[in-house]
This record gives sequence, structure tokens and C-alpha cells, in this order.
Amino acid sequence: MEPIKYLLSEDRMPTSWYNIAADLPTPPPAVLHPATHQPVGPADLAPLFPMALIMQEVSTERAIEIPDEVRSIYQQWRPTPLYRARRLERALDTPAKIYYKYEGVSPAGSHKPNTAVPQAYYNKQEGVKRIVTETGAGQWGSSLAFAGALFGLEILVYMVKVSYNQKPYRRALMETYGARVVASPSTETASGRAILAANPDSTGSLGIAISEAVEVAVQREDTKYALGSVLNHVLLHQTVVGQEALAQLEMAGDYPDILVGCTGGGSNFAGLTFPFIGAKLRGERDVRVVAVEPAACPSLTKGKYTYDFGDTAGMTPLVKMHTLGHTFVPSGFHAGGLRYHGMAPMVSHLVELGQIEATNVQQLETFAAGLTFARAEGILPAPEANHAVAGAINEALRCKEEGVSRTILFNLCGHGYLDMQAYTDYMAGKLKDFEYSSEEVAMALAGLPSVG
Ligand SMILES: *Cc1c(COP(=O)(O)O)cnc(C)c1O
Repeated sequence: MEPIKYLLSEDRMPTSWYNIAADLPTPPPAVLHPATHQPVGPADLAPLFPMALIMQEVSTERAIEIPDEVRSIYQQWRPTPLYRARRLERALDTPAKIYYKYEGVSPAGSHKPNTAVPQAYYNKQEGVKRIVTETGAGQWGSSLAFAGALFGLEILVYMVKVSYNQKPYRRALMETYGARVVASPSTETASGRAILAANPDSTGSLGIAISEAVEVAVQREDTKYALGSVLNHVLLHQTVVGQEALAQLEMAGDYPDILVGCTGGGSNFAGLTFPFIGAKLRGERDVRVVAVEPAACPSLTKGKYTYDFGDTAGMTPLVKMHTLGHTFVPSGFHAGGLRYHGMAPMVSHLVELGQIEATNVQQLETFAAGLTFARAEGILPAPEANHAVAGAINEALRCKEEGVSRTILFNLCGHGYLDMQAYTDYMAGKLKDFEYSSEEVAMALAGLPSVG
């Protein structure tokens, strides 16, 4: 099986998304209904998503064709560049070869438009007028706002309050694209009001914002919900990243020994790594795959692999994933996109299958890595992407220690030019490391739903 040669067209962009479900030795555990705990079917998800996306969610077909209209929009920034980080290699004095795939060239500045565009497209196709969503740092909200503007869809975004206040430029970008942005928890929904009644000063979390968005989405026939990570169809759309990287490395006559990506909900990581993991599962090429998460929100390295809700109020289906508990509210570290309590079920499943290693890094180390990278390569990474940079640097330094040359590829999933406050604070010595609180996690895990 050689997916790349037949998937890539003359414009060097994939013609299909790669679905890793086709190559798994065992399927991931079923998704369960929140009330009955029975496996959900497509009809259960219909109030939330257009049917085309639901069918992708459950598909086991290896290649799913990218619609022409989506491909023509992708062409604005795809294929994204793959760089060899020669100056970073020199700065680290490492025998390793370091490559990075740069997703910051998209209009919204990250990998997220790769899924925002097809999600908006399929909603439009099925007559949806309005999409409701949540956003943490604002990367997903601005990507969906961009896609909504392209397809003439109304976009409503519940933005985690701490980011709403910390990141006014992301909010302004969403509003520029025409979206309405509401700080979450808000008084507009029952879930928001319940949180505020219990804790009027709540700074919000992704789990809370998801509850608000889902609640609003199910109220109106012409409105659907959209998620920027975690779900199978989101990871699927991101595989354009890894497929392009495979082809670009082939042109360079190289193949990675180690893949590195940062993990919030798992989508940019999956986008880069799944095509390579697929090749490994099919017995074609070996590769080591490393997920890097924040020490303050360590779902893969310190969470429990169990059934949990995707949101705080418990309205979403139950999925089996590595989780810190759906009521866990992480501390206010700056990589807002990595502050989710759970991990994509497909990434979790591959960790359980031994295909993915996970590690965590502290905030200060990630910003130090970001500065080293920026001073060598010129591009300023998003605070989330700094986790991948730190992971890649650690692997390169290990090569130096062991005196071996390995090829490292990481996903530089977004730029940080709208995150300058975080860099300013870091350089002024105002940022600190957050200890992950085992007491808080124990409390949140105690609230897990019991599934027989
Ligand atoms: C949203 C975001 C993330 C985290 O989400 P994943 O689904 O884990 O990719 C990471 N980096 C950037 C730049 C983001 O915008």
C-alpha cells in the first residue's frame, strides 16, 4: 500500500484525507449515549453535526475524497512549507536533522482552518445557517469565523473568559471575520448560569464553553455545533499535514526516525503523525512518535484512560479517552489551546496500542525553546507550538549526547504573533511553572461517570 503516491495530485496537495481507522489492528471502544450508556448511532449525533461529518466520524474507509471546493480553498495556503531547521541544528550543535512543517501560513495562523473549511462546507451543503462553537485561546474560533465568512454562515463563539480578557486581538480577529463572540461562562445559557451561580468569578474552561455551545446548537433546527479538535473527523481533515510532509520528505530523500507534536485535543499531532503511523501499522516503515503536553494539563501522562464526557455539564456522548476528569479546570498557563481535560479517543487508543509515547513539559521550558527557535529560524511559534519545539529540541539534544544522527520532524502548528503578551511576560520574568495539582485531579476523577 502506497497511500502517498496515489493520494497526491499534480499540485502536490492530497486529494483525499487519510483515515487511520482503516489500518488499526483493533477498533477504538464505542462512543456511548450520555443517558443510556448504549453505543450511539449516526441519528443520535444528527442534532449536532451534518450527516456528511457524522459518516466521516464512523468511517473505516482508508481514503476519503476532499471535495473540489474545499481543495480550491486549501490551495490558498497549501501545501504548507516543510523546512529543514539547519540554523537551529547548528545552534544546538546536534548531529540530528530537524525538519518542521509550518502550519502558521494559513489565514488564521494555525492548522485549524484545515478542518474549519470542510466543516463549514458540509454544514452549508446541508442547509445549515448558523454554527455555534467554543474557543480556548481563540485559534479555533478565528478559523471557524474565517470559514464561516467564506460560506456565508453565521458563527457564534463561546470564548473561555480567561482568554477573552487575555487575548483581545484574537477576539477582534473573529469579529473582523463577522462572528459574534461571547465570554464563557455567560448568562446566555443554563449551563453558563449554573457555573456562575456556583462560582461567580469562574474564568471558564473549554469544557464549560463546549456545554454552552452544545446547549445553544440543539435548540434550533438551522443551527449546528462544531468542534475544532478531538473528534475523528477533525483528526481526519488534519491528515493533509502529514501526507504533504511524507511527499515533501520523499522529495528531499529523507524519512523521519522521530515525529514530535504538541497535544491539546490531539488534532495537529494526529494530522502530522497518522499518515506515518499508518505506514508503520501496515508494516512499511518504522517511526517513533512523541506527543508533548503541558505539565499543568497532562491528560496523556497523568490522566486515566476511561469513559468521560467531552464537556463539563455532561451533555456530550461518553468517549473512552485519557482524561483528567470533565470538571477539571487547568491553571491559567499561556498555551490556551492545550487546556483541555481530555484527549482525542483515537490518539488515546493509539497510546494504548503502544504506537505513541507521551511526555510533558513545564511552561518556562516551552518559552525558552520558543526563543531559541525564533532566534535561529526567525518564526515566532504559538505558545502551544512551543511544546513541540521543546520536544524536538530535547530529542535533538539526546542525539548529541548519544552521538547519533536521527531525523526529527515536528509540527510547527501555528505562529505566535497574536500572543506577544505571553512573550512579553515571559521575557519580563512574570511567567511561572504550574504544578499540576494531584488533589484537584483526584477530585475531578472522582466525578467520572460510571460505565459498566
Ligand atoms: C488549537 C491549537 C492547538 C491544540 O489543539 P490540537 O487539537 O491538540 O492540535 C495546538 N496548537 C495550536 C497553534 C492551536 O491553535
